[in-house]
Amino acid sequence: MTVTSAHSRTHSVPDFQALRRQDPELAEVLLGELHRQSTGLQLIAAENFTSPAVLAALGSPLANKYAEGYPGARHHGGCEFVDVAERIAMERAMALFGAQHANVQSHSGSSAVLAAYAALLKPGDTVLAMGLPYGGHLTHGSPANFSGRWFDFVGYGVEADSGLIDYEQVAALAKKHRPKAIVCGSISYPRHLDYAAFREIADEYGAYLIADAAHPIGLVAGGAAPSPVPYADVVCATTHKVLRGPRGGMILCGAGLAERIDRAVFPFTQGGAQMHTIAAKAVAFGEAATPAFAAYAHQVVANARVLAARLADEGFAITTDGTDTHLITADPAPLGVDGRTARGRLAAAGLVLDTCALPYGDQRGIRLGTAAVTTQGMGEAEMARIAVIFGAALREDPKARTEVLELTGRFPPYPG
Ligand SMILES: *Cc1c(COP(=O)(O)O)cnc(C)c1O
Repeated sequence: MTVTSAHSRTHSVPDFQALRRQDPELAEVLLGELHRQSTGLQLIAAENFTSPAVLAALGSPLANKYAEGYPGARHHGGCEFVDVAERIAMERAMALFGAQHANVQSHSGSSAVLAAYAALLKPGDTVLAMGLPYGGHLTHGSPANFSGRWFDFVGYGVEADSGLIDYEQVAALAKKHRPKAIVCGSISYPRHLDYAAFREIADEYGAYLIADAAHPIGLVAGGAAPSPVPYADVVCATTHKVLRGPRGGMILCGAGLAERIDRAVFPFTQGGAQMHTIAAKAVAFGEAATPAFAAYAHQVVANARVLAARLADEGFAITTDGTDTHLITADPAPLGVDGRTARGRLAAAGLVLDTCALPYGDQRGIRLGTAAVTTQGMGEAEMARIAVIFGAALREDPKARTEVLELTGRFPPYPG
């Protein structure tokens, strides 16, 4: 068993002493949340523990700076230092992902997708994306979201038996609907995407290919998943999932689309950039370029594979029979409960995760990921144990909570 140490463990989280003196009411909330994060297993597939260096950048005076525009072309004075921070973030992102251009200003993954659509599409255009019941994101055509309101979305699905994307269905829908863009990417698909297949379909029908790689981009950074960069016209991503940076978004593209993407972010969809977050993104890209991060990314996948196999031993039906990534979706129905009941019983034991849609029927399953527990230094042996704790928690065995506390005590996210 290899345990990959997460990030430098020589620093603790920023101390809250000053805040505690000034505003004990809010300090109490922050400390309560730190305690919650430290005493449960954070298995939400979209979450992770940022390093103390990332937290330091987020809590820095760069938070005070207004910086509309781009480095060297700002609408505000006094940008000489934040310009350097943004240039470093851009250069590190381009080097890390082998992209010709990086825009690091998107406030979130959703705003990155909004900007990509704004750069390439007009309202009313047809877009082909994974349907929401199969794991498409809100920004892939939900009627409650700008995407569903402003564009005409057509959804592809997954095969009911295998849970896998049917690329022939994607091609048939592209042929029938002639979309202006095809979106590949999902909130819950546990397998690698075949970016070459998507590119071929996009080329055949003259569509742009937008990869929404919010989830796997951290694995891509560590060489543990295929990269969409050589295939997609535009790659949208978050920086806070497996990538382990601050909460935020990013867009990668070729030189030919750089100006359109930049204008779609600012001034079309956003105002001033959040320079403290951009500095924290630079720190995270720096960390992600190290051999330690590559080892981390591979361990995340190894852990997810073991956890999926052991959850199957406990009786869960694992979607696609396993995973290629950090992400697992499972149906607890063979254990006599639905996803919502399972989530509640698991939460009572301190196992924090989400429910998700399943590729068949309308019962919900559970979605979990190994990014955060791997950052804590847990390896395959701990994954096997976590699967046993899942079984105990579903039986409402009080031992489950004790076992979670034993694990989090040995693997604290922020030692000290
Ligand atoms: C997480 C995610 C997003 C959005 O990220 P936010 O930062 O929450 O806006 C977009 N697309 C996909 C596929 C995601 O998984």
